[in-house]
Amino acid sequence: MGKYIKSFLISFIFVTILLAPGCSTKTRLEEDSIQAVANIEDVQEAEKEENSEESRLKDKTKEKIEKEVNKEEKSENKINKQSNSNSDPKSNKDLSSSDENKEAEPNPEPKPTKFVYLTFDDGPSEVTGEILDVLKNHNVKATFFVNGISIKNQNESIYAHMIKRMVEEGHAIGNHGYFHDYSITYASKEKFKENVDKLDKYLQEIAGVKTRLFRFQGGTSNTVYKKHLKGTTMKELFKLIRSSGYRYFDWNVDSNDSAQDTPSASSSVKNVLKGIKGKDNSIVLMHDSIHKTEHPDAVNTIITELKEQGYGFKKLSMDSYNSQHRK
Ligand SMILES: [Zn+2]
Repeated sequence: MGKYIKSFLISFIFVTILLAPGCSTKTRLEEDSIQAVANIEDVQEAEKEENSEESRLKDKTKEKIEKEVNKEEKSENKINKQSNSNSDPKSNKDLSSSDENKEAEPNPEPKPTKFVYLTFDDGPSEVTGEILDVLKNHNVKATFFVNGISIKNQNESIYAHMIKRMVEEGHAIGNHGYFHDYSITYASKEKFKENVDKLDKYLQEIAGVKTRLFRFQGGTSNTVYKKHLKGTTMKELFKLIRSSGYRYFDWNVDSNDSAQDTPSASSSVKNVLKGIKGKDNSIVLMHDSIHKTEHPDAVNTIITELKEQGYGFKKLSMDSYNSQHRK
């Protein structure tokens, strides 16, 4: 547009100069040409402005287009991502493959949220080795509340070997009193303490084991103590055991294997599977005793079943889950 105006004005000036009648005086011509030059300058100025306006517009348009393109690219990416996740779950997996690799561990099974603490009282016994074999096969850690050497397990080297095996294979050991005899255990507050200290000393001597996990014989809710314990209460024993640095444990699932001398594997399995239902943490009471010959089979079935149901297994410790019948 500017160019047309410019050439039109120049032509107009020349025609005016050449054809204007009576305008041949130098002054008039000079004035006209000055005016014309001024006009040209005005035009040029306007052109410049127009040009800069044009370039501003161009820049703006360019910017706008670039923005639009970016927008389109972004929404295209969004659509691609959506279509990937909607139509092709595999490619979605590929996108997060680096994260998956980070999380990939030898055991890809989901982490358990419910736990079982298998506990075995009164050992070691003739079946301890078999129970330890089963636990080892399943890579499950348990807790053994042991007694001292007695007529039932009087071979000291076997006793010491079993205690050491429990420790070496990652299980926890708890004090259950040296003698398992209520008339001795609950004879008095002093006798009770003696029975605990005797086992503590013995475990340290024979196997280098020091434990502060404890289980009362018969549990804290036992009623047998009443027959023997005169002049003191179970509450005083709780206090005594705590002040000696022990943490005591009862159970919230009973295999009920003490109800019979030789319980069948199936009855123990049934009682345990029924007992753990609805619990996030289960402390299971079983016995490690010469009479419990079915136990290795029972333990094998219990672990297999519970692992299939997604349960994890843990051993008791000073800061683990606890179940106490009385405090
Ligand atoms: Zn016991």
